[in-house]
Amino acid sequence: MNGSRAWRVYLLGGVAALVVFALLPYGMPRDVMCVLSGLVTVAVMWRSAARRRGDAALPWTLLMLAQVTMAAGDALWVYYEYIAGTDPFPSAADGLYLAQYPIVAAALFMLVRRRRSPGDRDAWLDGAIVVVGLALPYWVLISPGLGGYGSVLAEAIALSYPVGDVLLLAGLAGVLTMTRARTPALRMIVVAVVCLLAGDVIFVLADDPAALALPIDVMPYLLSYLFWGAAALHPSAADLLRTGPEPITPVTTRRLLGLTAVVLLAPGTSVVCFALGLHPRTLAVATASAVLFVLVVTRMAGMLRRLGEQARLLDEIARTDVLTGLPNRRTLDAQLTREYERAAREAAPLALALIDLDRFKRFNDTRGHQAGDALLAGAATAWSLALGGGGMLARYGGEEFVLLIPGRDLDEAEHLLAALRAVTPEQQTFSAGLALWDHRETPLELLRRADTALYAAKEAGRARTVRAEPSHRASPVSG
Ligand code: GH3
Ligand code: MG
Ligand code: MG
Repeated sequence: MNGSRAWRVYLLGGVAALVVFALLPYGMPRDVMCVLSGLVTVAVMWRSAARRRGDAALPWTLLMLAQVTMAAGDALWVYYEYIAGTDPFPSAADGLYLAQYPIVAAALFMLVRRRRSPGDRDAWLDGAIVVVGLALPYWVLISPGLGGYGSVLAEAIALSYPVGDVLLLAGLAGVLTMTRARTPALRMIVVAVVCLLAGDVIFVLADDPAALALPIDVMPYLLSYLFWGAAALHPSAADLLRTGPEPITPVTTRRLLGLTAVVLLAPGTSVVCFALGLHPRTLAVATASAVLFVLVVTRMAGMLRRLGEQARLLDEIARTDVLTGLPNRRTLDAQLTREYERAAREAAPLALALIDLDRFKRFNDTRGHQAGDALLAGAATAWSLALGGGGMLARYGGEEFVLLIPGRDLDEAEHLLAALRAVTPEQQTFSAGLALWDHRETPLELLRRADTALYAAKEAGRARTVRAEPSHRASPVSG
């Protein structure tokens, strides 16, 4: 039978068996049927685990082992109850039952670890919030039913079950806070674990199972058998470990609502206890609330830190030219305004050069566009190194650059341009138009004068610097 049909047949057969089980009277036939259900599940999971190769087999082998311990526990329980005639609690059967919790939790953690990006602290925090949030009502619900056993061993064993449940809850929280790869097999695993937890709660709460209106006492355990087997048979079982790590946890509305609901369980538990006239469980509620508060604040701090990093990165991207890493035109405009203010305040000179690579189209045509890109980036790096802190270079667009040279007159600026010329890679030449601010003209007018000078440099044969015509306005420093 192929995988796509096998899991459906198994599920349908299982549901039919559950109906039969519900109709049986309390006693040996029911309990034997529990054992048989466990054995069928083990057989199905064995087959599924045997089919997987390498890493993919490990979680299924663990999950199968957990069912082996559960079924063996059931068998031993039946032996004590009906053959040996002794009380099955506490006994070795409990040891077997209890063994399944760490095994299932280990399998769940293995899935989560494999899927989760190593640095995704937020996902672990979300998982912790879910565990603490759910553990509180769980504890308030079951703790009155605990205790009152004759021996310390019995007390310890009784207490081990809720500890195992919290372990499962942690694994479940990890799986539930994964964002991607919710395959049908994974969903069925989640249902199986939820059934197991529900079974434990009912087991503690129902003093006399036979008195229950419906035969629900062991029903959740049988349902968990059913879903373990169906998950193992489902075709998506093969993908349990296959998909790669998830992206860092996004904060979706759904996730936010889920976390809010979980956090509200703490005051909710308090209100329900009050409304039903139950013991207020002040210490448990206060402890869980405090832990949740710290977890939520830690989560918020992480989000704020990441937001700050993203804002800084975006700001950098918006201000930088991608190819050359130089400041772009937007940054140049802002810097020009600042340099204008400084030059005006200090009555200092401010020169501006418009640089344009010569015959760059021809370079692209003969050497290719990639080589052209490399030359642009290489020139930007070489010029920046040669400049040191002696000026601000920006990519103006295409193969044009602007060099802002504060505090230097035209002779010094021309000297600086000659230094850039010497380090330009690939014997590439450039032409430059150089203008000195007259302390009155706008940045646009200054750029226009430099551009006219650049045009003149091209006209005069390229590979040279031409000084712009002095501004027609009178200036305090341009002389
Ligand atoms: P001139 O000496 O007159 O300046 O000649 P030119 O060929 O440099 O000037 P033109 O304006 O005719 O061509 C500029 C060329 O620069 C055209 C375009 O392909 C190239 N260019 C502009 N931006 C880039 C870029 O980012 N990468 C590459 N590889 N080429 C670019
Ligand atoms: Mg050009
Ligand atoms: Mg050019």
